[in-house]
Amino acid sequence: MTKVAPPAQNQRFEDGSLIWLAGKQYPLRLTKKEAKGLVFRESVGFELSAREQKFAAERLTAFYREHTRQAVSKLAARYAKQWGLQINEIRVTSAKRRWGSCSRRNTLNFSLRLAMVPPEALEYVVAHELAHTRHHNHSSAFWAFLGQILPDYETQRRWLRQNGLKLPDF
Ligand SMILES: [Zn+2]
Repeated sequence: MTKVAPPAQNQRFEDGSLIWLAGKQYPLRLTKKEAKGLVFRESVGFELSAREQKFAAERLTAFYREHTRQAVSKLAARYAKQWGLQINEIRVTSAKRRWGSCSRRNTLNFSLRLAMVPPEALEYVVAHELAHTRHHNHSSAFWAFLGQILPDYETQRRWLRQNGLKLPDF
């Protein structure tokens, strides 16, 4: 399990509000366009029709969920293949107090809040939970195995510990 400290602030959804994605912040633009849902473009940021402002939190939740699902699935498949690990199922949850977890049956849960963190930190959480499919505990064997999968894991672990609480709630 990878725990997260409780968030310190609420996400705002005004024109110009900053939204985290993959470790960077992008502005939210409320437009007069009849845009469908929340649209993201690297060069512009997030765009949402002003009429949908009241649904902004829901739209962002769906966006984060999809982003996390894609990023996590790709990495998990790669690690599973590389290390011969068995995954039962991958779920994306709205958990606020943990980044990820692994059940006895190797069902892996990942928080959609992982969409906010840098890709390397997300990768750490995926590697951590994947390592639990072999060691269902935090024994020294677990940490040694994680170190084989991801030699630099300590840096990312520290990043999450130090910055997890700066990420907004919504
Ligand atoms: Zn763990």
